Amino acid sequence: MSSLRFKAVEEAFKKKALCIEPPAQFTSDYYGKYVFTKSVMAKYLSKDIMKSLSNSIEKGTTIDIAIADGVATGMKTWAMELGATHYTHWFQPLTDGTAEKHDSFIDYVAGPGEAIIEEFSGKLLVQQEPDASSFPSGGIRSTFEARGYTAWDPSSPAFVVDDTLVIPTIFISYTGEALDLKAPLLKALSAVDKAATAVCQLFDPNVKKVVSFLGWEQEYFLVDESLYATRPDLLLTGRTLLGHESAKNQQLEDHYFGAVPSRVAAFMKDIEFEAYKYGIPAKTRHNEVAPNQFELAPIYGECNLAVDQNLLMMSIMRRVARRHGFRLLLHEKPFAGINGSGKHNNWSLGTDTGVGLFTPGKTPEANLQFVTFLVNTLMAVYKHNALLKASIMTAQNAHRLGANEAPPAIVSAFLGKQLTSILDKLESSSTEDAIIIDAKKKLHLGIPHIPEVFLDNTDRNRTSAFAFTGNRFEFRAVGSSANCSSAMATLNAAVAEQLTLFKAEVEAKIAAGSKKEKAIFDVIKKYIKESKAIRFDGNGYSDEWKIEAAKRGLDCETSVPKIIEAYTSKSSIELFKSTGVLTEVELHARNEVKWETYIKKIQIEARVLGDLVLNHIIPVAKRYQSLLLDNVLKTKAVYSSEKAEKISALDLALIEEISEHVSIIKKNVDDMVEARKVANKIEHEKEKANSYHDVVLPYFEVIRYHVDKLEMIVDDEMWTLPKYRELLFIR
Ligand code: ADP
Ligand code: MG
Repeated sequence: MSSLRFKAVEEAFKKKALCIEPPAQFTSDYYGKYVFTKSVMAKYLSKDIMKSLSNSIEKGTTIDIAIADGVATGMKTWAMELGATHYTHWFQPLTDGTAEKHDSFIDYVAGPGEAIIEEFSGKLLVQQEPDASSFPSGGIRSTFEARGYTAWDPSSPAFVVDDTLVIPTIFISYTGEALDLKAPLLKALSAVDKAATAVCQLFDPNVKKVVSFLGWEQEYFLVDESLYATRPDLLLTGRTLLGHESAKNQQLEDHYFGAVPSRVAAFMKDIEFEAYKYGIPAKTRHNEVAPNQFELAPIYGECNLAVDQNLLMMSIMRRVARRHGFRLLLHEKPFAGINGSGKHNNWSLGTDTGVGLFTPGKTPEANLQFVTFLVNTLMAVYKHNALLKASIMTAQNAHRLGANEAPPAIVSAFLGKQLTSILDKLESSSTEDAIIIDAKKKLHLGIPHIPEVFLDNTDRNRTSAFAFTGNRFEFRAVGSSANCSSAMATLNAAVAEQLTLFKAEVEAKIAAGSKKEKAIFDVIKKYIKESKAIRFDGNGYSDEWKIEAAKRGLDCETSVPKIIEAYTSKSSIELFKSTGVLTEVELHARNEVKWETYIKKIQIEARVLGDLVLNHIIPVAKRYQSLLLDNVLKTKAVYSSEKAEKISALDLALIEEISEHVSIIKKNVDDMVEARKVANKIEHEKEKANSYHDVVLPYFEVIRYHVDKLEMIVDDEMWTLPKYRELLFIR
């Protein structure tokens, strides 16, 4: 082992659990202590202000400045009691992660040079103008008009981190276009509320609001900080660009749900403590399938809040990992040959009357409503399967979906045996068979006891991108590092559009003289037929499925830059326009940003790979080769030529092998650099991204193949980069 690597490995193995003792309190005692929740507000805001604010949050009406002033004052007092001296608007630009700019509360009492006081006005709470010129806008905001505004989102509560009051906001341009991921999400949530409420009212006129719920499951890897520091690829790209598989990795399936190593357990306790402080209901923790891979999942909640909580949680996890001598890897595929990380988005809709719209009901009426929402969702996912894939696709996630060893880049829906047979039965039955309207005008589906059927909810499918799991859908294709907004805005918008179409079709039938239940049933039946191609319960990882999916007309594109184009297809533009989520201008601008991001990611990886090869791999291989050559020469000096030839045979073979690998590696690195130069000259972002995907990216695999072979040949003592077996097994 090289001395640097040896030191790093030794340091990593010496570490013990750095357990931060959890406070001697019950979780419920400090849960949400740093969040400006409704109950906290009640203590710091007057009754009138409280009422007006709640009203605005619930109905989405504008908050007037007098109310904002009152809220700001209360918020400041509360935050200062928790030690805050600064505040920041917290927004989600079109980059990975969040952005913030901290300002202190201080202001002069009278004028410059005078005494200061802590000030926080409604104006500062409601709106800020960060210097927006360096955030991506896809050309919406030309540099001479770089203004962008952040605007308070009162539906996600403010919180205090360290000495700063953090205010969740949207981020828009001077001309009103969204420059972030939160604004479209809020619009999509409002669209799905409106559309779903209208459909619910066909069944129950008391329903006034439908809420979209999200329960995310965050997968992640941990690596020891000292090892991480000696892997430039992990450090700069978040994933290993090189590295031979460890002889043992996940074959024995001994990591999944296994005992959590004590160092990791200490980390988990610590992040949960932080999560509870911020009102994030962390519920589940466990080992994942791959070595060093783990998961954290909270109890689901309202979608917008859940998204913010996930973003906050990712930053907490990053920070706390360092306290424990770890680095957190949120990359979708940090290691080749073992599982990647996702962030399953468990999604459902629920009414203000307490009904889960994907929960099978106890009565036939409730079940008709359940089937209505289920089938409309299938229809939405069917129509927009290419777009939904685009909503989760990134350079990183492409390694998890669509690459050699990963599930295919195809969105299909899994329902399970029972539900499938119910839909099949509905589809094939004549309306009269399936619905018997008796004297009391009660509705019966020809499906007895749907609820009981669901008691046996054991058939689960881990290979499906969009799986029904008893009371919700699980959008499993979302990447571990992603902001869930993108997937959730798209899904909710697609379902909103579909529900609106459904309602119109049902109403047209009623207007033509059909009974309501029969009208609903007829439309559902039609949808079951139309959306059939999206349903697939088989093995999504198999090659047969790729062929079958293409036959069914599902989107099978695997190139990220091309997948992204789905955002500006005719049906996508219409979808986002009709739901008011994004305009055509915004969609085109976002695609520019996506292509640009893709290019930069591949560009950085290509550079890091080139550097590693030229500065680590080739010199090390050459050094070992020269050692072997030395050996051959010395052998020749000592023995007769015949004997020397025999003794040196192995060395000579290795020397040749090394030189063969090295020359292939060198040639491919040179060609890759050339390919990059050609790509960089292309002006149009889309074409440039295509060139990076089609021409530059394929070099990675060839180079890696030969480097990984060298790793197996070269003396372990000389190899400078920590190997998979060292990176992947925390002790
Ligand atoms: P899994 O067995 O799929 O790994 P987990 O317990 O890890 O399940 O995560 C399931 C997630 O789904 C949790 O966040 C849970 O709160 C959430 N969930 C449960 N019911 C619903 C629902 N009706 N709507 C949305 N999310 C839900
Ligand atoms: Mg889970």
